Amino acid sequence: MLALLAAGISLAACSENAATGRNQFVVAPDEALAEMADQAWADLRRQTPRSSDPQMQARLERVGWRIVEAAGRPDLDWEFVVFDRPEINAFVLPNGKVGAFRGLMDFAADDDELAGVLGHEIGHILARHPAERVSQQMAVELGVNVVQAILANGEYAEHAGEIAGALGMGAVYGVILPYSRSHELEADRLGVDLAQRAGLDPAGSVRFFERMARKGAGQAQAPEVLSTHPADAPRLAALREAVAALPKG
Ligand SMILES: [Zn+2]
Repeated sequence: MLALLAAGISLAACSENAATGRNQFVVAPDEALAEMADQAWADLRRQTPRSSDPQMQARLERVGWRIVEAAGRPDLDWEFVVFDRPEINAFVLPNGKVGAFRGLMDFAADDDELAGVLGHEIGHILARHPAERVSQQMAVELGVNVVQAILANGEYAEHAGEIAGALGMGAVYGVILPYSRSHELEADRLGVDLAQRAGLDPAGSVRFFERMARKGAGQAQAPEVLSTHPADAPRLAALREAVAALPKG
């Protein structure tokens, strides 16, 4: 782990993301992210039973592979699993592991709606939101000055314990907890683009999140452990705009 950290920390901190065109503060090494994601995936697989419905599993793979091919990330070891849980939720980890709950598979009315959710989740990965969030968390935990000193001088050995501690925290924030609002909006934009490039209807995303918002309106907010949330009115408006702005094809 420390060797991986050393390799990553010595790289520059700010880089432009190809998917978003935005500069990102990223100090969390990809290898460390992948290691955390592998651990999170192993935990989820151990704690959560798989669905025994082969058609549901086949549907997730069929739509998932179309989105993944549009995403152009063959470097990731993609895998799709339907978990036997009633929540309407799905997640994608930075190692390419995609989980969808039975509740989501039932709720998504057609493949276009399912593509909307998967496009959004995979959009988070293309935009490197987990790495960005872990890096922000590191900066909070360690203090910006320490992170800057590490980056400037390569003095990671001295701070290795602190970094590992911060990354331990960051593992939770990085791969499991909800994303920030700006990350949600960015993933929405990338998601509709991916759905369209995969040959699916990008408006499926709007339909899905509209129905999700209506369903969520009358309910107490459930604890959010994963990353697909009901959308509020401003997010839905931005989503409709993103679909309208897509090139017509
Ligand atoms: Zn999201």
